[in-house]
Amino acid sequence: MNRKLGSGKLVIATHNAGKLKEISALLAPYGLECVSAGALGLPEPAETGTTFMENALIKARAAAEKSGLPALADDSGLSVAALDGRPGVYTADWAERQWFEGEPGRDWYMAMGKVEGMLQARGPETPREAWFSCMLALAWPDGEQAVYEGRADGTLTWPPRGTRGFGYDPVFVPQGHDLTFGELDPEEKHRISHRADAFAKLVADQFAG
Ligand code: IMP
Repeated sequence: MNRKLGSGKLVIATHNAGKLKEISALLAPYGLECVSAGALGLPEPAETGTTFMENALIKARAAAEKSGLPALADDSGLSVAALDGRPGVYTADWAERQWFEGEPGRDWYMAMGKVEGMLQARGPETPREAWFSCMLALAWPDGEQAVYEGRADGTLTWPPRGTRGFGYDPVFVPQGHDLTFGELDPEEKHRISHRADAFAKLVADQFAG
């Protein structure tokens, strides 16, 4: 039987404003007080894992140990079937703009263009299937932990469409839809996303019954 969260404070171990907003919205019905790792001044640990699970656990463990509170972290990314699952755990790294002098930060259009360029280089018949993965890790200060995995399948479109959402949303058309994640109503995205899928598993385990 897993440890249960109950009510009270939960540290959301992300410094990504887009994720924080989505996670807080998904947890709103469960009476938890969500505080971000950024607001608590917690440092961001290096994501040295080679899987979504390792990275999610690194972030959740670091936040729980530093804050003395239960912590929730997510590690997520886009995997493209024709690129053997890349960028995968390196999804955020592909957007790193480090080679532009004086302009640190991430450029999602550059990252989406890189994926598209690699697909086009493989020829016009290259399959465009892709999926977003989300690994959620819960960690308690005493070392207990739990993980939940979610997935959203779809296809990649070009050029990017829509200004809602974040990251690779404008090129991802979820299965059964014509709009990209960047065009969809955020409520609809929250219903069908990889994060929603992982959260449904977390909620079933943590709050059901
Ligand atoms: P990390 O989980 O913070 O290491 O970064 C994963 C990266 O994957 C994010 O920075 C986003 O660019 C991308 N990503 C994860 N979830 C989504 C999503 O729902 N929409 C668009 N991009 C996403």
